[in-house]
Amino acid sequence: MTFPVIGVVGGGQLARMMAPEALNLGFELRILAEGPDVSAARSVATAPVGDYTDLMALREFARGLDVLTFDHEHVPNAHLQTLISEGVNVQPRPAALIHAQDKLVMRRAIAELGLPNPAWAEVHNVAELLAFGEEIGWPIVLKTPRGGYDGKGVRMIDSPDDARAAADWFVNGSLLAEDKVNFTRELSALVARTPSGEAKGWDVVHTIQVDGVCDEVIAPAKDLSEDVAAAARSAALQIAEAFGVTGVMAAELFETPGHGAGFVINELAMRPHNTGHWTMNGSITSQFEQHLRAVLDLPLGATDALAETTVMKNYLGGANQNLFSAFAAALAAEPRVKVHAYGKSVRPGRKIGHVNVVSEPGESVDSLRARANTVASIIRDGAPATAISEGLTS
Ligand code: ADP
Repeated sequence: MTFPVIGVVGGGQLARMMAPEALNLGFELRILAEGPDVSAARSVATAPVGDYTDLMALREFARGLDVLTFDHEHVPNAHLQTLISEGVNVQPRPAALIHAQDKLVMRRAIAELGLPNPAWAEVHNVAELLAFGEEIGWPIVLKTPRGGYDGKGVRMIDSPDDARAAADWFVNGSLLAEDKVNFTRELSALVARTPSGEAKGWDVVHTIQVDGVCDEVIAPAKDLSEDVAAAARSAALQIAEAFGVTGVMAAELFETPGHGAGFVINELAMRPHNTGHWTMNGSITSQFEQHLRAVLDLPLGATDALAETTVMKNYLGGANQNLFSAFAAALAAEPRVKVHAYGKSVRPGRKIGHVNVVSEPGESVDSLRARANTVASIIRDGAPATAISEGLTS
């Protein structure tokens, strides 16, 4: 028996964070990188540069792999089907992945399972969009079924005038129209499943979005009724089973207390997810280790939380260009906060790292959030002179 070789298409931070887990388990990880400088490129020995939309490049990369998996969902589904027909072990399978690539496919499949969707319709033109808005009431949300991320491809439609102004969005085909859900919080239910069908979920978490981007995660979500938490987790497990998902899957949810199941499903991601970064320090098994185990069809690790609460805070590119200049102050400010840097150059608004902090017994969520925010903002903005001296002397 030799240790397995795993290939990851895409060299972003998700691929990068799989690298230490592969190293610990003795697996070889290879990455198909978009360029020589992407986040994961220097985290593994083998990271050829290639275009993931080019079948030849994918074929070449797949040679010698035990399994091919992903850092993102943008690989053309047809290429994956071709690779499978040529004997490549692709996980997750394209038939599952399509539910994370196409929001209309996802809505239909979730409806078939009888799980909670917002009111929705496939609309082909402005007339159908107007009809949907009249039927369920304004405001509504219009989405491009494919290619959206971080809120791009999502448009709020508050009135019939807005609907008419969206005519140009129909150039590439039909769109998804949804009720604008009056939610109290966004939640995420993260699960992993193996090709043999073993599946495990982590605690349902509260995700705080800023400008359509995940900013903070509180794990587990506080004051969430046990029934809703259990239903959300079991919905995610049911989806994973029904769609044949392998690896990690996140179900992003809107909490709707007092209505229906208490949540509706917003969208699915089939890979490790930003709302699961807390597991790196807050769970017995991190989502990155679990993803590798799952795609290799190995037994899954325990998903128990290591503390009562874990807070994850992203830091985006900001004022500070030389990130390491602020590290001493950041690390000194909160020795219990764990920093995860993605090795990316700084651009405003770009996700360049995150921090995690797990609670001490009895510690409040506010205190944890403050600790995480302190460290993230010192790294993002650079250390003010006072923070440096306080951090280094305390
Ligand atoms: P993306 O694929 O770009 O992440 P999402 O479908 O997650 O797009 O939508 C981005 C954000 O827009 C969500 O996080 C949420 O805040 C808001 N949103 C999306 N759909 C709805 C909806 N049906 N009702 C209310 N808000 C929505």
